[in-house]
Amino acid sequence: MPLHPPAQAGQRFSEIDTPALVLDLDAFERNLVAMAAYTQAHGVRLRPHAKTHKSPEIALRQIAHGAVGQCCQKVSEAEILVAGGVQDVLVSNEVAGAAKLDRLAQLARSAKISLCVDHLDGVREAAEAAARHDVVLDVLVEIDVGGRRCGVAPGEAAVRIAEAVSRSNTLRFGGLQAYHGTAQHMRSIDERREAIERAGLSARNTVERLAQAGLSCGVVSGAGTGTYEIETGSGIWNEIQAGSYIFMDADYARNRQADGTPFRAFEHALFILTGVMSKPVPDRAIVDAGHKAAAIDSGMPMPFRREGAVYTKPSDEHGVLTGDPIALPHRGEHILLVPGHCDPTVNLHDWYVCVRGMHGPDAHVEALWPVAARGALT
Ligand code: PLP
Ligand code: MN
Repeated sequence: MPLHPPAQAGQRFSEIDTPALVLDLDAFERNLVAMAAYTQAHGVRLRPHAKTHKSPEIALRQIAHGAVGQCCQKVSEAEILVAGGVQDVLVSNEVAGAAKLDRLAQLARSAKISLCVDHLDGVREAAEAAARHDVVLDVLVEIDVGGRRCGVAPGEAAVRIAEAVSRSNTLRFGGLQAYHGTAQHMRSIDERREAIERAGLSARNTVERLAQAGLSCGVVSGAGTGTYEIETGSGIWNEIQAGSYIFMDADYARNRQADGTPFRAFEHALFILTGVMSKPVPDRAIVDAGHKAAAIDSGMPMPFRREGAVYTKPSDEHGVLTGDPIALPHRGEHILLVPGHCDPTVNLHDWYVCVRGMHGPDAHVEALWPVAARGALT
């Protein structure tokens, strides 16, 4: 039996059932335009990360605004993006094992597919899969620029891997993956700048050593919503992988700009609409969005434009709001929450309920977009 979606196109905003993942289309479109304008004005390519949205609908809108393609973390995400019409996908990740690499090589028959490697075994496996399917895969060598996740050491070790890539008949060396994940949510601009400046030294040094070895680095890709201006300003990176900018979650709103004010280059565009199922006492309202509607790994969801109401505690299907009784919603009322962390929150929902004119008198559901790559983990 198919699930009942929380809304239908054409309904009024007040008719959306809860909990629902709501996209404010007007704010979302302004975010799309703002990042497109920034990257175009500064001469860097934008390759937004699809792990944030998991949606070809959104990917195609980013591409219509000038993005060169998409990146994603999983082969199954790449499959859904290509099926949805995206023609250039970078799996910004290592891919291990023939099962996944065979699928990726098959995909390269219908789209430009790139992946990352950080080990000679990864080069060999990718080359063999590409040969089995008679395709050529583009490869970025991932270097660890300080995030201490994947990535070979910058410098000579990276050059050896790039040389192995360029010796292969079925792989094409494209450049470097140089993403610094832990820098994204450092709160002060000084901390972020210092981390990315150090990352830039590693990347630049690797590019120079590659050049000495006769290998040119077409692409130096990386950066996220927290640091993209720093990578762009460095002149070292030429491709930006930001993902969260389209939605702006509560955790990114805790980053600070140069003047100490909250980071607000982008607007909150993604919400969980939740309903009050119970208000047992005046200073406690229980809403229907808990762990199964909102991820809390980066902090609690934030009631939107509701001074004095605090989301204090989720359980599986409940959320407890506490605060000043006059700030708390009454039983049956719907309120908006800004998710703490957008990416894992999206993955909890089947549908984006896309709302036009959300804060005005004519707020209505314009469309439902499926979270098509929900649960795409392989
Ligand atoms: N690139 C890579 C490899 C990532 O892992 C991520 C997110 O973790 C991003 C880009 C995008 O970051 P954000 O959503 O913070 O903009
Ligand atoms: Mn994230």
